[in-house]
Amino acid sequence: MAIPPSHTRAVIIGGGVSGCSVAYHLAKLGWTDIVLLERKQLTSGTTWHAAGLVGQLRGSQNMTRLAKYSAELYVNLEAETGVATGMRQVGSISLGLTADRREELLRQATLARTFGVEVQEITTAEVRAMYPHVEIGDVTCAVHLPGDGQCDPANIAMALAKGARMNGAQIIEGIKVTRVTDDGTRVTGVDWDNGSQTGHIAADIVINCGGMWGRDLAAASKVTLPLHACEHFYLVTEPIDGLGHLPVLRVPDECAYYKSDAGKMMLGAFEPRAKPWGMGGIPEDFCFDALPEDFAHFEPILEMATKRMPMFETAGIHTFFNGPESFTPDDRYYLGEAPELNGYWVAAGYNSIGIVSSGGAGMALAHWITQGEPPFDLWEVDIRRAQPFQRNRRYLKERVTETLGLLYADHWPYRQVETARDVRRSPIHAHLKAAGAVFGEVAGWERANWFADADQPREYRYDWGRQNWFDNQRAEHMAVREGVGLFDMTSFGKIRVEGRAACAFLNRVCANQIDVAPGRVVYTQMLNSKGGIESDLTVTRLSETAFLLVVPGTTLQRDLAWLRRHQGDHAIAIIDMTAAEAVFCVMGPKARDLMQGVSPDDLSHKGFGFGTAREIEIGMGLARAHRISYVGELGWELYVSSDMAAHVFEALTDAGTDHGLKLCGLHALDSCRIEKAFRHFGHDITDEDHVLEAGLGYAVKTSKNEFIGRDAVLRKQDAGLARRMVQFRLEDPEPLLFHNEAILREGRIVGPVTSGNYGHALGGAIGMGYVPCPDESADEVLASSYEIEVAGVRHRAVASLAPMYDPASERVKM
Ligand SMILES: Cc1cc2nc3c(=O)[nH]c(=O)nc-3n(C[C@H](O)[C@H](O)[C@H](O)COP(=O)(O)OP(=O)(O)OC[C@H]3O[C@@H](n4cnc5c(N)ncnc54)[C@H](O)[C@@H]3O)c2cc1C
Repeated sequence: MAIPPSHTRAVIIGGGVSGCSVAYHLAKLGWTDIVLLERKQLTSGTTWHAAGLVGQLRGSQNMTRLAKYSAELYVNLEAETGVATGMRQVGSISLGLTADRREELLRQATLARTFGVEVQEITTAEVRAMYPHVEIGDVTCAVHLPGDGQCDPANIAMALAKGARMNGAQIIEGIKVTRVTDDGTRVTGVDWDNGSQTGHIAADIVINCGGMWGRDLAAASKVTLPLHACEHFYLVTEPIDGLGHLPVLRVPDECAYYKSDAGKMMLGAFEPRAKPWGMGGIPEDFCFDALPEDFAHFEPILEMATKRMPMFETAGIHTFFNGPESFTPDDRYYLGEAPELNGYWVAAGYNSIGIVSSGGAGMALAHWITQGEPPFDLWEVDIRRAQPFQRNRRYLKERVTETLGLLYADHWPYRQVETARDVRRSPIHAHLKAAGAVFGEVAGWERANWFADADQPREYRYDWGRQNWFDNQRAEHMAVREGVGLFDMTSFGKIRVEGRAACAFLNRVCANQIDVAPGRVVYTQMLNSKGGIESDLTVTRLSETAFLLVVPGTTLQRDLAWLRRHQGDHAIAIIDMTAAEAVFCVMGPKARDLMQGVSPDDLSHKGFGFGTAREIEIGMGLARAHRISYVGELGWELYVSSDMAAHVFEALTDAGTDHGLKLCGLHALDSCRIEKAFRHFGHDITDEDHVLEAGLGYAVKTSKNEFIGRDAVLRKQDAGLARRMVQFRLEDPEPLLFHNEAILREGRIVGPVTSGNYGHALGGAIGMGYVPCPDESADEVLASSYEIEVAGVRHRAVASLAPMYDPASERVKM
């Protein structure tokens, strides 16, 4: 048996498709001093029994880029390594059976065109011609992606492993990593056990590609890797005469996919309520194992399949397969360096798309490890989005019952998860609930998305058109524009940076001038070396040596990790204060009247200027009021110690009855901010988007000291902008924009809508998005005609580089 080396640059833990791809790509980039350890045999975890579907279209541009990369890699892998991978580009067909699914499929087709994936809407006759076995009487829509494929998953992994070895990587089977060792801040290596011997490998980094084992291994190093195994089913028929080569077929309304292979038919299921597995840990001896059959669980899917594909009535069943796979709370996998421990990297939690994802994910991770930065924005799969509480196994078990089925469920806009709720709550949660709040969940936080009227059901009725809360949103939105509204934004991440070097440190990581007088609030970005936006935040100087950073709740762990990574020798403390304070945003032209009714402090424009913060009295309590606004109106964000939150809220709402105060939800917050063209991190601005092209140059001070990203800003100033962030309003007030619709300039698709919502004051759907414009002036960009394609239909759009709502920002400075 091979004995591992005593020192190596990187240890890859796990020989499934994920680990093999990471090894392959690291070796290709010249990291030959690496070793992959597999506890049993390569592919013996989940990889060996995957169905092998390789669909290229994903929910975002970069995930599609990765999937397309995988497909191209797998096509060429056989010639490169000599291992037969079974990769065939047979194409895929998706069928819709409802009007809602038709809308979704047509929107996906627009998305595919935007991302450069070949796609056609096809008639049912064309479906029949390509797939003679399928019943089409109730089909409402069919879409064909000719570039999609299918493969033999185990051989893809074996080919990647061979390619890794050919480039110098060492791969050893039969060795289990028992522990990742560290010195308190950084990984130092791994301890291993091969059954007869134990040992240690000193290593610079480790990459946890341990699939469903990965969570507990990570937890032993205090690294959060929230995933949980679920049972996942398919069946394979006996050979069927004359079956031939068929495209992959998906019928999401019946939770089913079909694949023909070697004359047999496979039927796979994404049932609405899945069965979690492995609650007591994954058995030590698991190796090429299957789980017990559960025919009763699979039967409803088979019943529908038999009607859809009558051949199932007569075809004998060769295999009824049940295998475990890792699922995550948001159906997205994890990639990147864990924020808790330097040098601890992760590529795991693949939610049943690990084969199609691993090629691209391995490439992206290898780039990230070797270059120090990801090749492009990977926020949606970034491990830093995981919340520490998500280590909780009961939470995970409950959530994954839902996430498996969500893959084939209707992907309506604003769809909320239903399981594992109510974990993180604002101190005024019960007050909001009593007032009719309908909650959504983000990062575990329950947040009021909208407020139902007294006689209205407190639930979402999903639709691709106006949903049941559209008028509630309008009322909240207009209250903020014309009166006063209150948003509970307690979910904001709050980071206190304190110490003698705090100002110098923040001036190094932030692009705006942070060395301001105590009591000032600064809007800024943290940039990377390419000028891309790592974080979008406000920094409030509380004193000479103390600052409060306010970030979105979703990015808190990412921001903490970024700050700690750049702390260096600065004598500072970086403390997560999120749970210490509730945040109420009192916004609207009548905000001052309301506030003045509960506070004796001077809140006049002269006495409390825009962009300042200070302590005020409210009711019988205290709050720190920050005069800023994400909705573009006069207003204050009130930071209230959690123990006084309910009191301050009651004082405001009691006084609010005289001032028409309206409780407002996150949907109205978003519709207000998009009218004002405020950017939303993760959608409009990411680490791939240059701060100048995002239109945020006004918050960058190149004249101050050196800061991260300054050189990239100066270079871009010299070179000129290659693209610009543009705000659009549809001329027709009827259609809606959500995200990812196609922007057309002079009839040609130029990119996706990065975020969308309805502008209730502007009177139409508003979208944001980048328009490529090398060597063009702002006037030239605006001189073009624009349309936005929604589900295949084009709508004329008005474009603007300045915010369409209150371009001179007069309203915030009243
Ligand atoms: C029924 C079914 C159908 C599927 N169909 C598809 C499909 O059509 N398309 C698609 O893209 N995906 C599909 N998948 C998903 C796909 O199989 C997985 O996402 C993928 O195989 C996960 O690969 P992995 O490398 O992360 O995990 P694994 O394959 O489980 O590999 C992890 C490896 O790590 C090893 N390991 C764990 N701990 C240690 C340790 N401490 N030391 C050493 N080694 C360790 C394990 O032994 C294991 O071999 C399907 C899955 C199932 C169950």
